[in-house]
Order: sequence, then structure tokens, then C-alpha cells
Amino acid sequence: MNLVQMLVRAARVHPERPAVWLGDQPLLDYRALADRAARLAGHLRGELGLRPGDRVALVMSNDVAYLELLQAAWWAGLAVVPINAKLHPREVEFILGDAGAAVLFVSDDLAADLQPLLGGLPALRRAFTPGDPAYETALAAPSVAPAHRAPDDLAWLFYTSGTTGRPKGVMQTHRNLYAMTSCYFIDVDDVQADDAIVYAAPMSHGAGMYNFAFVARAARHIVPASGGFDPAELVALSQSVGRLCLFAAPTMVKRLVDHIAASGAPAGGFKTLVYGGGPMYVEDIQAALATMGPRFVQIYGQGESPMTITALARETLDERTHPRWAERIASVGVAQTLVEVRVAGPDGQTLPTGETGEVVVRGEAVMAGYWRNPEATAQALRDGWLWTGDMGAMDADGYLTLKDRSKDVIISGGSNIYPREVEEVLLRHPGVREVSVIGQPDPEWGEVVVAFVVGSEVTAAALDALCLEHIARFKRPKRYHFVAELPKNNYGKVLKTALRELLHKEEPTC
Ligand code: AMP
Repeated sequence: MNLVQMLVRAARVHPERPAVWLGDQPLLDYRALADRAARLAGHLRGELGLRPGDRVALVMSNDVAYLELLQAAWWAGLAVVPINAKLHPREVEFILGDAGAAVLFVSDDLAADLQPLLGGLPALRRAFTPGDPAYETALAAPSVAPAHRAPDDLAWLFYTSGTTGRPKGVMQTHRNLYAMTSCYFIDVDDVQADDAIVYAAPMSHGAGMYNFAFVARAARHIVPASGGFDPAELVALSQSVGRLCLFAAPTMVKRLVDHIAASGAPAGGFKTLVYGGGPMYVEDIQAALATMGPRFVQIYGQGESPMTITALARETLDERTHPRWAERIASVGVAQTLVEVRVAGPDGQTLPTGETGEVVVRGEAVMAGYWRNPEATAQALRDGWLWTGDMGAMDADGYLTLKDRSKDVIISGGSNIYPREVEEVLLRHPGVREVSVIGQPDPEWGEVVVAFVVGSEVTAAALDALCLEHIARFKRPKRYHFVAELPKNNYGKVLKTALRELLHKEEPTC
């Protein structure tokens, strides 16, 4: 069982179908895509001497080379470690070291910042920049046959931050990602040959994981010329390429819908928008449906059960006459087909309908565990169930509504930000005595990062400069509140709910 078999079959049955596009320009057909993957695999296994199971890291913005690199690694029997291109070089360095990455593919624009740190990584043998002469040489290597892998072999090592602030590698296996792909077809959307997945969200995350469904159908893969999310560009692509399917964070959906509503552009070139990764406000999905019609499907997942916990179907979102439509569109839908989902109390017992508890998941999509971290694995996987850290309630029909995130994760513009990580950086300032970071609802970003600081002789500008030195730009607090003390409970734990209420009273933004 090797995920690359989907590409092998597509290239054999439909060699001439266009596979990879840059904007509205087709670049590679399926024959060429498979040939390049097989040659790169030959270079990785031959010249570089990598063994099955070795890790290949990608620190790249969305790029036309992304797909061939992922597929080449699986072709060679290796595991991929796609890393968020927006992370700070120090954060990337930590992940490369933890994963023991043997080869790195890094975008041109990110290479200079990363280069000085690579010397300290003993496992790393080579770094390539796609498009460079060395990359072209690798593409000229003799091809090899696709490697065989066992279902539980590592395919994708997905780094997610923990509440402790140290990123953890989620081990996603070939079985997990096959299950995710099957659920895409069963619970999310069918794919036709002339459908086009457009990578508007980072390929290092869910958007990239959705490549398989489109490879399986020998459909089209579009990398926007901007490399990211630009509503006007997407609308233009919907008109020139058509049948666009994309995964988008709720904030992206909102921006696209606002753009279409304001410009009056037709929505007909969009086939399916899958949204998830963070809460979607009811008002926003209603506006989206009114502006673009029944083109939406919601998914709820997490790295530990990639893209596959629940789904809210297109038909359900469109069933306005249903007596519980209002509740349903506020939910995250029902369990996807290859997993079981329950709401559990602290002892693991299933809670009665409507009661709030922790969402737990079991099944084919659930990770094998955290990379070289048995303690964290034992914490997350208990009695065969994944404890998601999300709080929710399930109704009598099986619709799950998420209430809160027990882990206090801030989701801003679709990216997860872990307060503890930001707090630790702010505490490095000698003038900061105590700090607490929370998310504040924001109509544009979903949430923005806000810091409460107790200290003396410290300014917002100094703290901002400190953050710029240590963490990715998108994690920096947008606002600072300097306070005399933080609200605490009897155990001395900061009451984040009290801080949220404080913000809510001061300046309701949502
Ligand atoms: P990640 O592991 O980075 O994919 O983040 C996963 C977390 O994002 C989940 O545990 C949820 O807290 C949140 N999340 C994912 N999908 C949804 C959704 N559809 N609605 C609300 N929150 C979501």
C-alpha cells in the first residue's frame, strides 16, 4: 500500500491528461508528472542513498514543484515533512532536527534565511532549491520502480504545535491518508476528470493532503501564479480554467464571498469550496450560500486525524426547509465514514445527547502517534481513541457542534497559534512579570492575538521587536493590554475566560 500508486495508475491510464498547471497554463501531463517523480526518486535512492522511511522535508511556498516532490518521496518509499513556509527559521530548524530530515527542498526566497542554520543538522545530507541546476540534474537521474510500503508505514510527518509550544510530529501513515481520500469521495465530494483543485491555501497542510483525490481521478492541479490566496485571481481562474475545487479556511471563504458580492462576478466556475480548520460564523456561511449557491462543504479535522473527523454535506447546507437547518449549519456535521466520533466525559464514558464534553475519534484516519514522543502519544491516544482537545456536543441525529477549544488555540486567518508559545517569548523581556495571551474574535481574521502583560518599563514596541526575533510574524500579538494583575483561580491559574469577558465588554468586535 503506497499512496504513490494513485499516481502510477493515473499516468498509466490517462498519460495525456493535463496534471499540473501554473495559473491557467498547463505545464505537465500525468505521464510527465510520473516520469519526473520516478527520476527524482531515483536520485534520492541512488545518488543520495536514502533508505525507505527516511524523511524528506519541504520548506516551500506553494509551487508547481510541490506535487512532484511529494510524489517522488513516496515513489522512493520515503516520508515527507512539509513545513509551514511562514515559520521563523529557528522554528524550521527545530522541526528539521526533530524529524531527522535527510534532504531538504527549500524555495528560493526562503533559502537565504535558512542556509546559516543548516550546518547544525547532522542528519541533513543535501538541500535543493527547485529550478536550480542541481535540481535539474536530479531530474535527469535514471528512474526507479515505485517502492512498496506497508499500510502503517509513515507517509507524512505533520508538525503541529503543542500547548507546550514545542511542535510535535504527527505520524500520518499511508493507511491514514488513503482513508482520508476515501472519505473525501464518500463524505465531501466526488471528483470528475475535468475538475481542478486550486491550491490557494498552503500545500504543507490540508490543501496539499487533498491532492490524492484529484490524482486518483487524473484531474487537474492548479497552483495560482500568486502562490496563495487572492480572491480576484481565483475568480479569474474560475472563468478561464473552470470547475475549481478548493480547501479554504473560513476567513478565506469570507474574503472570496465579499469579493464576489461586491464585484458581481458569476460563481459558476467554482465547483466546490471545502471549508474548515477553524470556526465558521453562521452569518458568514449564510452570506456565502446566498452569494455563491450550494457549493460548500464543511470538514472538521486535525493533524492527528487529517481532514477526517466530521463533514457537513453540501445537501445539508442547502436544505433550508429542514426544521433544524439553523442548528445544522452551525454544526460541523456528522462523523465521516471511516471514523467513529463520540463526545466523552473525563473518564471516557459517552455523554448523553446534547451534553458538552471532549470530542474523541477512532478509526482508519487516526494517526499512528507522535514522532519519537511516547508520552504525548499516550496522552492523546487512550484506549484506542484520539482525544482531540476540542469540546463539543452531539445531537440526536449525530450532528456535532464544537463549543470551545480546550487547548485555547487561537486560529487567526486559518493558522493555529498556541498562546503558550507566544507567552514564552514575551516572558523573555526582563520587564515582563506575567503574561497571558488569548484570541479576540475579529471579523476579518476569525481571531487576533491579544496579550495581557503585567510588568514595568516595557512597551508594546519592545515586545513586538522581541517577537520578530523569535517567532513567525503571524503569531505576534496585534494588541497589548498592560494590566496591574491577571485574574486567577484558587490554584493560581490564569482565568483566560475572565480575560475574554474583559475584552468582550471593552470592545465587542464581532
Ligand atoms: P490542525 O491540527 O492545525 O489542523 O488544527 C485542528 C484544530 O482546528 C481542531 O482541533 C479544531 O480545534 C480546529 N478546527 C478544525 N476544523 C474545524 C471546524 N470545521 N470548525 C471549528 N474548528 C475547527
